Amino acid sequence: MRNLTVSIVLASCLIGPLAYAQRDSGPDQGSAKAGAKPGSAMAKGAAEAKDSSAKPGAKEASAKEAPAKEMAAKDSGPMSEGDLSIRIAERLAALKARQAERAAQQARSQKPRKVVRRSDAAMAIHQSDHWSYEGENGPANWGKINAAWSKCATGNRQSPIDIRNGMKVELEQIQFDYQPAGFNVIDNGHTIQVTVGGGNYITVMNQQYELVQFHFHRPSEERINGKGFEMVVHMVHRDADGKLAVVAVLIERGKPQPLIQTVWNNLPLEKHTTVTPTIVIDVNELLPQRRDYFTYMGSLTTPPCSEGVLWLVMKEPVQASPAQLALFSRLYPMNARPVQSSSGRVIKESN
Ligand SMILES: [Zn+2]
Repeated sequence: MRNLTVSIVLASCLIGPLAYAQRDSGPDQGSAKAGAKPGSAMAKGAAEAKDSSAKPGAKEASAKEAPAKEMAAKDSGPMSEGDLSIRIAERLAALKARQAERAAQQARSQKPRKVVRRSDAAMAIHQSDHWSYEGENGPANWGKINAAWSKCATGNRQSPIDIRNGMKVELEQIQFDYQPAGFNVIDNGHTIQVTVGGGNYITVMNQQYELVQFHFHRPSEERINGKGFEMVVHMVHRDADGKLAVVAVLIERGKPQPLIQTVWNNLPLEKHTTVTPTIVIDVNELLPQRRDYFTYMGSLTTPPCSEGVLWLVMKEPVQASPAQLALFSRLYPMNARPVQSSSGRVIKESN
């Protein structure tokens, strides 16, 4: 039963991404939140996914929920190599099924949002879904662009932060249960984002989260004792209740990174379009060898800046080649939110 619940939750949570992918004007907070209770973890989950996610094959969706259940059930058993392609096909079918459901939910959720907006004409004048990293729509103004993004201005648990004065404790290791999975790549106008097929989990503090997507920032949003890095990859995970845990892996200049190369090889030619390769990726390849980390409670680093996000920042960076870094910088020379006040938050780190 739990697997079915997860499928439904994911389908609900991912209304946002579809809205985003189909609308050049950017995320629509109303539709992202309408499917969930306001202020709930689910609303946050939908919002984060909306931040930049999309799934493949929206219009061809015809699969039912059943394949998703079967796929999920198989995940717990041993896997032979022969099963792999079948499982990938099943996952893709499951993704499409979820997408169809999202589309339906999005359609259902649009009406109430418009009513809400019309009820406050003065506010509506200032409502927009456009945000960027500089200028009028830059980070300093995110909280004013859309009423649903007020946390960007008023929150006191915002991310990113400059990580310093961590409390050194014996932090339990994050358990990474990643395996080869199908994926797609979108340039969402704010970053390059890779949506990953199901079955990739982390367990931390006795809670299991499933990897949904990963995306890149340049330079790194996080700082460690004031030091920034060339880039960072944010691996966004969601638990069964919709709560988010983001694993941040810092990227420094060095040798080529194979998984990043695979993503770059599959970049879409146009913004807001999705490439769905037929190969699989193993997200383990993105992880550093040492698994020490910092952890603190923060927020999405993009509108709507929802809080309640568990951040897990790996201490050891991985490397990417100068050419790999240069390629991303041609698309996004600067897509990092400035560091936010840590406001006395507890930061723990592996001893
Ligand atoms: Zn991010």
